[in-house]
Amino acid sequence: ALMTLGLLFFALALILSHIMSKRAMIPIMQSYTRQREFVADASHELRTPLSVMLSSIDTLQLEDGMAQNPFAARVLANMRNEVKRMTKLAGDLLTLARSDSGEVLLANEPLDLRANAEHILQSLQALADAKQIQLTLQAPPSLMMYGDADRLEQLLVILIDNAIKYTPDGGDVRVMISVERAKSMHILQFIVEDNGIGIRAEDHKQIFTRFYREDKSRSKELGGHGLGLAIAKWIVDAHRGTIHVESKVNQGSRFVVRIPMREGSWS
Ligand code: ADP
Repeated sequence: ALMTLGLLFFALALILSHIMSKRAMIPIMQSYTRQREFVADASHELRTPLSVMLSSIDTLQLEDGMAQNPFAARVLANMRNEVKRMTKLAGDLLTLARSDSGEVLLANEPLDLRANAEHILQSLQALADAKQIQLTLQAPPSLMMYGDADRLEQLLVILIDNAIKYTPDGGDVRVMISVERAKSMHILQFIVEDNGIGIRAEDHKQIFTRFYREDKSRSKELGGHGLGLAIAKWIVDAHRGTIHVESKVNQGSRFVVRIPMREGSWS
């Protein structure tokens, strides 16, 4: 009887500890969800006042007296830069908060990736020109597939924009897109390569984590806040792909993305 009682107590203790651990888990999960929703709502709410501020600054910059007042013009230009940075930060936080909820579904629409890539390069050409950077694209003449055009564009923009930012004037940025046709899977490969400042070996993994920057003041000066590569990683993960960097300090960086595509998704 004593043994049965002991066993009963043991079973009761097990059940109780199980319930307790569940009870502890629920508030943690709830507070995590609440925190994520808070970040998403806050960043969403910030966008309207920021865009009002930006257009107000634009209006002031066009005011007649502005050209005669270099101090005011400089202050306004600084304000404009900071407001643009905050707008980007709010947008990036919103993207990541939404990605955390797992509710974001990838679109599956027909797209010609070559045309998309050309369009992206065109939109970034002015940035490259400002630093006399040679921006080139190497890709098959046509890359028809089904995929999420917006996400793939966002991924390429992040990588190319970084390559331009972290490459000194007169450098080279190359974008290479190719497809490996395997048995049951096609692998789409993007490479974005620069001959810029490079990344220390010990930072190769960390740069994909949120808010991680090798040099905070340099990144801030260049308009960054350390979320670009975290978003790139999320887009690649959502596609069940891989992303890694090969880089040497002062020689350049090469970001390699590989995304599997289901057979039959090519027209
Ligand atoms: P940021 O807004 O700082 O550019 P990212 O998440 O896009 O944020 O990048 C994180 C960090 O990775 C950067 O601050 C920089 O230190 C490093 N990095 C990213 N791309 C490159 C590159 N092409 N060359 C050198 N360093 C890079």
